[in-house]
Amino acid sequence: MANTPTAQDEHRVVEAAPTGLFIGGEWRSATGDRTLVVEDPSTGEPLTEVADATPADGAAALDAAVAAQDSFARMAPRDRGEILRRTYEIMTARADDLALLMTLEMGKPLAEAKGEIAYAAEFFRWFSEEAVRIDGGYAIAPNGASRFLIHKQPVGVCLFITPWNFPAAMGARKIAPAVAAGCTMVIKPSELTPLSMHMIADILTEAGLPPGVLNVVTTSEAGPVMEPLIRDGRARKLSFTGSTPVGRILLAQSAEKVLRTSMELGGNAPFLVFDDADLDKAVEGAMLAKMRNMGEACTAANRFLVHRSVAEPFAEKLAERMGTLTVGRGTEEGVQVGPLVDGKSRAKVDGLVRDAVEKGADVVGGAEPVDGPGYFYRPTVLRDVPIQARMVREEIFGPVAPITVFDDDDQALAAANDSEFGLVSYVFTENLDRALRVSERLESGMVGLNTGLVSNPAAPFGGVKQSGLGREGGRIGIEEFLETKYVAIGFSG
Ligand code: ADP
Repeated sequence: MANTPTAQDEHRVVEAAPTGLFIGGEWRSATGDRTLVVEDPSTGEPLTEVADATPADGAAALDAAVAAQDSFARMAPRDRGEILRRTYEIMTARADDLALLMTLEMGKPLAEAKGEIAYAAEFFRWFSEEAVRIDGGYAIAPNGASRFLIHKQPVGVCLFITPWNFPAAMGARKIAPAVAAGCTMVIKPSELTPLSMHMIADILTEAGLPPGVLNVVTTSEAGPVMEPLIRDGRARKLSFTGSTPVGRILLAQSAEKVLRTSMELGGNAPFLVFDDADLDKAVEGAMLAKMRNMGEACTAANRFLVHRSVAEPFAEKLAERMGTLTVGRGTEEGVQVGPLVDGKSRAKVDGLVRDAVEKGADVVGGAEPVDGPGYFYRPTVLRDVPIQARMVREEIFGPVAPITVFDDDDQALAAANDSEFGLVSYVFTENLDRALRVSERLESGMVGLNTGLVSNPAAPFGGVKQSGLGREGGRIGIEEFLETKYVAIGFSG
């Protein structure tokens, strides 16, 4: 493929993506042939239509997952691992096409889409290696009169709900460990970006995943389709990535049948720059933490807290870098900032910026939507954002960097921790003691220390407070899909 894909390339990758519901190993249409439109956010034009599942289709998907669970749990771990390994290999071989499809449905620049495909594929590789490392234990009871056998079993049928911002990776990091552990599943991707997940389902099938193990139900009716499945009781686990308000609803629904839950919810990441920071490194980290995915990431730096003595040069350097970014359609060569995902998201970002400016923030650069088709917003830097501004508490989910100053470490930590969220924090300092002290005291599940990127399939991703429950990736990632069984063995010597 040439650097900028042609219209034929675009047409080819969209045509290649399945448009049905994937139930019991087959692509089928929705009841009543319902469809929904998938749009290209860089033009606002429709890309294609896909099947729009009804609650009856959701029920069929759960039935298929339930039917497949027993035999899949008995498949040899090595065989499950090989399916994942082949999936990694196929995704890697087809990365260009998968990335183009993702850019078309979601908007992110092609280079970032390629990065996400590589990241998603890595989850399949990592968990192909973990499938054969599920271990257990054998122990002698303290009084010597019995023996303990401890082993791990798959939790059973899982329900997955994923967002639009990372259409491949958010699914991959649930599907890969579930397959490794021997669980079957129903996944509901975001209706804004279902095509990437449809391609992954196709690739897993090509890699040998048995029918019914993975079922995909794209729908415009997330609540009515998923709530009955959560309340059904046959699924034993719900894993969700999305907003905190929806996470709360799903937790309440899960309580009825006491489902195990993993929740990757919202963030409000503080980005701390201390007076001893290497400013070039901090600006580099800020660009990554803020601008990856146009700021549409739960890990996005949401609040820049900068020591007063370096606030001026930091803001200037950051605004300069933000100002040179090329905004445009993600498929075009050289574009670094794509559109936001839809008109609603752009209006929300603009509303937060207006609110901050009305309350006294200074605009260093940007702060306006881009005219024309598509949902573009200019990279924006704001200074002296007052504590009352809504963006101090709310996730911005856009290319907007609000800066406020602090005078000492305690003040910085208090401001950083003053949030209901606790997903990730970023810290820039060249002082080791300060780095450790601050990292320990930050109330977040992850800390980026002199780096603007924490995500890695081999590391445990997840938050504390209202950012969620559980971890994805790393050694711990598969544990979310395993139950511990203890067998007490009478022993008479
Ligand atoms: P975002 O702001 O990232 O769109 P949401 O939490 O609204 O976050 O959406 C994340 C996922 O949750 C999407 O797949 C969406 O369709 C789904 N979703 C939204 N509301 C519900 C609900 N009531 N029940 C189940 N899924 C939902």
